[in-house]
Amino acid sequence: MATDCLFCKMVSGAIKPATVHEDDDVLAFKDINPQAPVHVLVISKRHIATLNDLKPADAALVGKLVLAAGKIARELGVADGGYRTVMNCNADAGQSVWHVHLHLLGGRVMRWPPG
Ligand code: AMP
Ligand code: ZN
Repeated sequence: MATDCLFCKMVSGAIKPATVHEDDDVLAFKDINPQAPVHVLVISKRHIATLNDLKPADAALVGKLVLAAGKIARELGVADGGYRTVMNCNADAGQSVWHVHLHLLGGRVMRWPPG
């Protein structure tokens, strides 16, 4: 837990997000500034600042983030139509919260390449 981290405060309950999934390792909640009809953030409960900080021992945790995203996509009805998952790392990618998270975006057609 990093005391000055927004997403750690959601894990601790100090800030209450609009939760859509929770298990021992993962918390998922609606993004406050949605970029698509479905925009969910799937976060590690453990504080890890960026993708660059992941270790081989975190492989299962990253897999759990992706599996949770698939489950949520099915529950929210976007799995068959399609959805995008994004993990932004550092400034050039637009990362703004330094706690590893996966964006699940769906409910509209996505363009490629991303901006
Ligand atoms: P990133 O820019 O990849 O680091 O993503 C951070 C995301 O967190 C952005 O999409 C923000 O809209 C979202 N966000 C920031 N504050 C909150 C909040 N209080 N509740 C939910 N989502 C948030
Ligand atoms: Zn954190």
